[in-house]
Amino acid sequence: MRIIFMGPPGAGKGTQAQRVAARYGIPAISTGDIFRSNVSAGTELGVKAQQYMDAGEYVPDEVTNLMVRDRIDEPDAAPGFLLDGYPRTLAQVEELDGMIRHTGHKLDAAVVLTADDEELVRRLLARAESDGRADDTEEIIRRRQEVYNEQTAPLIDDYRERGVLVEVDGMGEIDEVTARIFAALEGVSES
Ligand code: ADP
Repeated sequence: MRIIFMGPPGAGKGTQAQRVAARYGIPAISTGDIFRSNVSAGTELGVKAQQYMDAGEYVPDEVTNLMVRDRIDEPDAAPGFLLDGYPRTLAQVEELDGMIRHTGHKLDAAVVLTADDEELVRRLLARAESDGRADDTEEIIRRRQEVYNEQTAPLIDDYRERGVLVEVDGMGEIDEVTARIFAALEGVSES
């Protein structure tokens, strides 16, 4: 199974991605998590990414694409994968299409979690108190929402046209949202 997860910052992609990946026995690959662990480890990749992340901007496509390509080439991703937070730009969509085509497979589903922007700001500010992410200040949260709306939201139409879009309401209890996603993916079979 090859799945991507999209949705505005704070929509709960990470939590839901873990659950869905576990159900299908595939790795959940979060570009945000990979960047953050590289920032903490002080790697070259981390150094390249940090200034963008701290400002709420996207890391340049060349950097992100290379990183995802390497990760997808790992043996655990051969049977399939769930990408959480990638692709987010048109150039990334094209890159991912190429990577999947190369393996002779297809993208099976693009899950989009929808949510209300103001509720998301509240959730993210609450998260800032508990886990203190550097980019969870109100100003940077609003910039991340803007960047998502400008660069990533338009990609949803493309996946809708391809017939792989699975739109799920991300508001409500975590378990409720998981149940909605599982139900929506029921009809999706692996290509
Ligand atoms: P959120 O979706 O809540 O903003 P993530 O943890 O998914 O948070 O991503 C954090 C940051 O990592 C983003 O603001 C961006 O700087 C960087 N990032 C993650 N994924 C991508 C991507 N696909 N392309 C470019 N930058 C990315």
